[in-house]
Amino acid sequence: MPRVLIVEDEPALRRALAINLKARHYEVDAVGTGTDALAAAATGELDLVILDLGLPDLDGVEVIEGLRGWSQVPIIVLSAREAQAQKVRALDAGADDYVTKPFGMDELLARIRAALRRAEGTEPVPAVVATASFTLDLAAKRATRDGAEVRLTPTEWHLIEALVRRPGTLVPASQLLAEVWGPAYEKETNYLRVYFAQLRRKLEAVPGTPEHFITEPGLGYRFEP
Ligand code: CA
Repeated sequence: MPRVLIVEDEPALRRALAINLKARHYEVDAVGTGTDALAAAATGELDLVILDLGLPDLDGVEVIEGLRGWSQVPIIVLSAREAQAQKVRALDAGADDYVTKPFGMDELLARIRAALRRAEGTEPVPAVVATASFTLDLAAKRATRDGAEVRLTPTEWHLIEALVRRPGTLVPASQLLAEVWGPAYEKETNYLRVYFAQLRRKLEAVPGTPEHFITEPGLGYRFEP
């Protein structure tokens, strides 16, 4: 049974999270402060942390930095819609994903499952990714849309691979840039804007309202199969 630590100062939400996770057979610890979170993490094996960024004692980002000093445990942060800058800092500090409040429990549970699969290294790397709009054969490097072949450049394939390996997961812009262009390019977010516009034109049914290559403004990109 995966052990999940919930860090949330709002009692009603903390209780709701604990009840939902226990019902799905997770082992749950729930605390309401950053100090208690670091203490709980230090006392035992954790498989995942759900961390509210707005805590009464420590900043959630400080909790992430504290954990990342010695632990690679997956961290999903809960953040307020208006706290964009804090979300970016949380991801830079080592959070794996985020969910914006108010969120549906199903969405959070899906993010938890994805984070746990990635941590176990059991996230299957698909050879063929098929969506309603297009099909990508990653092994043969063949893309088709409506039955017609679409030509993609090596850089476009590289970008696609970096994203579809983590379906449904936010991949920070800096991480995509480092993986595809190299660590010196981590701040060149304009590259991503140009390449994703290109990919959408080639693959999305309606490039202006993409359903598969999703931009998370200021944060990164997400592939929705
Ligand atoms: Ca809070």
